[in-house]
Amino acid sequence: MKFGGTSVGDVERLLDVARRIVAAREAGNRVVGVLSAMGHQTDELLDLAQKISLRPKPRALDMLVSVGERITCALAEMAIEDLGHHAISLTGSQAGIVTDTVHGKAKIVEIRARRIHEALDEDRIVLVAGFQGVSTEYEVTTLGRGGSDMTAVALAAALGAEACEIYTDVDGVFTADPRVVPQARKLHAVTYEEMLEMAASGAKVLQLRSVEFARNHGVKVHVRSTFSGEEGTWIAEEDERMLEKAMISGVTHTREESLYTVGGVDAGRLFGALADASVNVDTIIRTGPDIVFSAPDEDHASIASTLDALEGVTWSARDDLGKVSVIGAGMKSHPGIAARTFATLADLGIESPVVTTSPIKIACYVARNEVERAVSALHHVFELDTPVAERSHA
Ligand code: ADP
Ligand code: ASP
Ligand code: MG
Repeated sequence: MKFGGTSVGDVERLLDVARRIVAAREAGNRVVGVLSAMGHQTDELLDLAQKISLRPKPRALDMLVSVGERITCALAEMAIEDLGHHAISLTGSQAGIVTDTVHGKAKIVEIRARRIHEALDEDRIVLVAGFQGVSTEYEVTTLGRGGSDMTAVALAAALGAEACEIYTDVDGVFTADPRVVPQARKLHAVTYEEMLEMAASGAKVLQLRSVEFARNHGVKVHVRSTFSGEEGTWIAEEDERMLEKAMISGVTHTREESLYTVGGVDAGRLFGALADASVNVDTIIRTGPDIVFSAPDEDHASIASTLDALEGVTWSARDDLGKVSVIGAGMKSHPGIAARTFATLADLGIESPVVTTSPIKIACYVARNEVERAVSALHHVFELDTPVAERSHA
């Protein structure tokens, strides 16, 4: 059971989460809870670091931001003991989450779950601090923003859990960000592939890497609300019943990606250097001598220094664009989705200088201040505000 930042945002909510974990234990489950930092604490810690140093040392930054989840777990341990159950809180390191040495976005390389198994055998509720691990060089590392999802999915796989329950501040995965499109509907089920595309294109409800991990290890993920007992959204293998209804499962967006145009370098050297700097490049386009690629805004500083360090390179960046994506596994067998997408944007007078596709996605870069209008219109055109979008598969 993983609880996100808002779910443990204040004392009352944290106490509610403790009660919910205890209820799951009392229902006969062995429970491992993964907790996020309370509220916006991770952002606050990052801001604090910026006030001290313009380029905080990555090792020190991880020492700092990993503290948030540790606080939540320690408090939850106290709360659960008061409720009459035995609990033990563990840092990522104590929980045996071993990562590579890339500070800020470390990858899990191994989980040594002995300590968790022992605690479960002693009838304890185990609370693991999300978002963090210990590197093969014995340093504290973090798993990238939203990384508590990764902790939860990886533990679910390592422990052979029945399911990985992601408790959050919305009722599940919706056809669009419910904060942007109030008519968005909760999906009962989404395929791993669709969820991967959604997470990669801005639906922050699950961290991208956690979805990849879940798919690769066959972990069943259930995204649901902390604040109700309702069923949420199941992420699982494709099932014919998922496809027979709506062709499109969602419209996602991001305003946190920039587009780079680079000249004077061959692609191998360019992307080799970006990979060495651990930059996650998304779209890559090449039609002439220039190479165009997109990457998250949070990587801007490392991209700029990587490009500046490459000899003979000229480059420019655009940070005035956002990306709107239409996603659906049904797209594979239904032509005409691209045509409808472009016609909808044209009717709104919205230009899209760059478009990229996958078999189940059409992504259009549009002006950042037009993103909301484009999302709402596409959501409506593909009938995602009607019950047919919900795709019941029970
Ligand atoms: P947590 O703190 O629980 O990890 P996040 O903030 O990481 O929560 O993710 C939940 C948020 O994701 C929601 O509040 C919602 O605004 C946003 N979101 C974006 N796209 C979607 C979507 N398609 N479905 C559900 N939530 C979405
Ligand atoms: N607290 C971390 C973050 O804000 C990890 C998480 O909440 O998943 O990114
Ligand atoms: Mg999250």
